Parts: sequence; C-alpha cells; structure tokens
Amino acid sequence: NGNEEQSQDYLFKIVLIGDSAVGKSNLLARFSRNQFHPYSKSTIGVEFQTKTIDIDGKEIKAQIWDTAGQERFKAITSAYYRGAVGALVVYDVCRHQTFDSVGRWLEELHMHCDVNVATILVGNKTDLKDAREVSTAEGKALAEAQGLFFMETSALDSSNVAAAFQTVVEEIYHIVS
Ligand code: GDP
Ligand code: MG
Repeated sequence: NGNEEQSQDYLFKIVLIGDSAVGKSNLLARFSRNQFHPYSKSTIGVEFQTKTIDIDGKEIKAQIWDTAGQERFKAITSAYYRGAVGALVVYDVCRHQTFDSVGRWLEELHMHCDVNVATILVGNKTDLKDAREVSTAEGKALAEAQGLFFMETSALDSSNVAAAFQTVVEEIYHIVS
C-alpha cells in the first residue's frame, strides 16, 4: 500500500472453541471491551474482535473469533478455523461435562489447523467457588498431557482473562518471529 516505512504489522487469527455457555463470548467481551453480560446472547453479526497487543515493542493485532452459537449444534464450519494460528479451548469449571468435551474440541481443531496452532486450555468461571466440579489439578494434568498452556479464568471478576489471551499471542509471536 505504499506505506513501506511503517514497521511490520502482525495479524494473528485466534479462535475460541468449547461447549456452549462455558463463557467464550464473555471472555472476549471482557478482554476486548472490559464488559460482562450476565445473560447469554449469541454474537449476531460480529464474527471477531480485534485487539492490539504490544510485545517487544511490536504492535500485534489479535483477531479473535467467536462463534454465534453454532457449537450447540456441533456445526462450526471450516471457515471459522481457516487461517487460525491460536486457539483458546474453554470449559466451565462448574460443569465437568464441558471438561469431558475438551478432547473432542482438540480433535476438531487439529482437523482444521496446523499442528503448531498455539493453544491454551482455559477453565472459566472460577468465581463460582461453591459450584466447582473440575479441580485445578485435573485441568493442569490434561493440559500437560496434551502439551497445552493452561489457565483458570473468570470473565465475571476478570481474573486471568487478559493473561490467557496474552499467553496465546506471545506463543504465536515466538513461533513466527
Ligand atoms: P458461550 O456460549 O461459551 O459464549 O458462553 P457465554 O459467554 O454466552 O456465557 C454463558 C453464561 O455464563 C452467561 O450467562 C454468562 O453470563 C455466564 N458466564 C460467562 N463467564 C462467566 C464467569 O466467568 N463467571 C460466571 N459466574 N458466569 C459466567
Ligand atoms: Mg457465545
């Protein structure tokens, strides 16, 4: 575009996957707009949010894709995954069933993306302490077995949300740079 003097821009496509209602859309809303929505609503019309992150003085654009609820029908299309270099595989620490689905989500991810796709396993809703069904140790063990990064988050109280996205972006950056 004739703007050769500008420093190189990085644009990383990152996908959010995991069972319905684990908090994917709220993790993205918290990270990109510092918002939280107590009632579930599918993202209509918005396919992704872009957030600029600084690493080593480089400007990195993280283009984070969210589903519009298709995961409920196991109908995420290949277009969703196409070109993704990072992924957050999210489960709800209060619903063990969503943790049991993680293996299936990883299979789907690896069917569509390069084996090097930077992936973090995210146990969300840590604020609901009394309702926990998946221990931190259990999450960590699965992540280690699958060679994934791991973090527990709360989109409600913000804990570790930025850190989870940042971890993925830094890993992608290290892979490509
Ligand atoms: P998605 O289907 O995976 O995109 O999940 P949503 O982001 O729509 O969240 C599903 C429900 O869980 C909504 O009612 C959210 O308000 C709620 N939720 C999401 N994240 C959290 C969290 O960290 N803590 C709590 N307590 N509720 C959450
Ligand atoms: Mg959603």
